[in-house]
Amino acid sequence: MEMTSPAPSPAAESTPHTSETADDISQTENRARKRARTDEQSVSSTSATLSASAIAVLPSSLISLPLELLAEVLLLTNSPRDVLAVARCSKFLCNTLVSNPSTEFIWKRVRATCLPRALPDPTENFTEASYAAYVYDAGACEVCEKHTDHMYASFALRVRLCRNDSCRNRYKSLMVEVGHQGDTWVRRAEDPRCFDTIAVNLSPYSDVQFGTVMTWALRADRDKYEKEAAALGAESVSEELKQSVFRRVKIQKKIQTHARLILQWRLEYEKTHAAVKVRNDRFILAFSEREGWKSKDVTSCQSYIRLRRQKERVLEKLTVYDIESIRLELEAELLRISEARERREYESNYRIRREDITHHYERLKSARGQVLPSLCEFRRLPVIKAMQEKTNTKESLANDLKTSGLIAELIKNDVSKWTDSVRSTLLRSLGYQQEWRSASTKRLHPLDRLTARFCCRRCNKVERRYKTDGCLDSAGVCGHQCPGLSKAELRQYQWSANQFVKDDKAFAVVSEVLKQMQVKDDDATSLTISKKSGRNIRCLSC
Ligand SMILES: [Zn+2]
Ligand SMILES: [Zn+2]
Ligand SMILES: [Zn+2]
Repeated sequence: MEMTSPAPSPAAESTPHTSETADDISQTENRARKRARTDEQSVSSTSATLSASAIAVLPSSLISLPLELLAEVLLLTNSPRDVLAVARCSKFLCNTLVSNPSTEFIWKRVRATCLPRALPDPTENFTEASYAAYVYDAGACEVCEKHTDHMYASFALRVRLCRNDSCRNRYKSLMVEVGHQGDTWVRRAEDPRCFDTIAVNLSPYSDVQFGTVMTWALRADRDKYEKEAAALGAESVSEELKQSVFRRVKIQKKIQTHARLILQWRLEYEKTHAAVKVRNDRFILAFSEREGWKSKDVTSCQSYIRLRRQKERVLEKLTVYDIESIRLELEAELLRISEARERREYESNYRIRREDITHHYERLKSARGQVLPSLCEFRRLPVIKAMQEKTNTKESLANDLKTSGLIAELIKNDVSKWTDSVRSTLLRSLGYQQEWRSASTKRLHPLDRLTARFCCRRCNKVERRYKTDGCLDSAGVCGHQCPGLSKAELRQYQWSANQFVKDDKAFAVVSEVLKQMQVKDDDATSLTISKKSGRNIRCLSC
């Protein structure tokens, strides 16, 4: 059913198209049963089973149409393929359209008006419906057995091949050339070129007489033929064989001549199909341009692909009206595509910026100019966070971070604000209730003293740098990140200055050592003295 039909019924729309394996309309019911079975099998896809049952319940508007109107609609399709698809929708439609003398005119008329030109009349062994199935149906490739949309490669042999060249070559290897014998009864392809992917140069087939062209036959068939020919030559030839050969010669002649006609029609169909495709490509390119759509996106939209496949199957060109009919769906799909693209872009930019920030952090850390928070906390500084989440840029941050004095200043500012607040918390945990101030430059701030040692309540661990100490100084607290966290834990991880407590044991030891050395803990010289004399301390208990 193409756009020409006023209201395609839901059932008609959701038919599994004409593209199924069967050759004959009589298999329609089998097919329905088969479909039901596959639906049962795919219990996991509840939506499939749901929609199948929903379709069964929905009354089709096609069924309720009076026959004259149904015929009118079908005649407008100009395609036996569409009539066949409708006939396969339900038992009722099948009974109405198939082998029913009063509806035969529909098939005949669409056969005459179909594109690219009228389909040759069927031979008497076909009903109109089975003929449409014979010409239009899709099915399994003879070699790889995969489903293919292609019509028969050879109508005489009823052989279907997919577009894969290897399948074609493989099938050809099973064949032998058979020649000019006038009256032959071997089953043979209608034309030597029917297995080629692209048949150029159409010769006027009507001029070609049966049996005058070299063509292909299956090796097995040819061998059987030769055996029979030998038997016929013998004196004691049986009447039965004579009759059967005679019958087959007659049939072969008919099949061959008819298949040639359809093949010629098929080649024209394929040629037109290719031309329509090229034209539709151009159309959608221009149309997308006009609408301000990305044509690449449009061609990947399911609604468009569906529409286009339908149209091209019946060799119709896309029109503005066709696109209008799917506009809503198409625009929604386009939006989804562009949103997904933006998201992908943002994510990849985000990753790059994140890496830039990591590198910058490492640079700052190795410069040792300033006490730094852990990388995790560093990312949460306002200026870093803003840079990390910047959306409207594709450039990496690396250059800005390296060269911009303003950014360096802002980062420095953020870091010192951060350290100030951390230090005041730590100061409280050391027991100082107020801010500590001193006019003397020789007196050490409590947090900078050797006695200011902390441990992490959360993990009770220290970084490798502090392993010999077993506790952290105030810079160590700032840079601390509980080690051994998984990625997920790290994402949840919230650093807080409150997770650190004064290490009383370390405090006592250091105080004692300083006392022994007769240095006060707030004396600025204590830092250098202790370094020099660190090795001269002896433990008295062991
Ligand atoms: Zn194949
Ligand atoms: Zn910790
Ligand atoms: Zn000891």
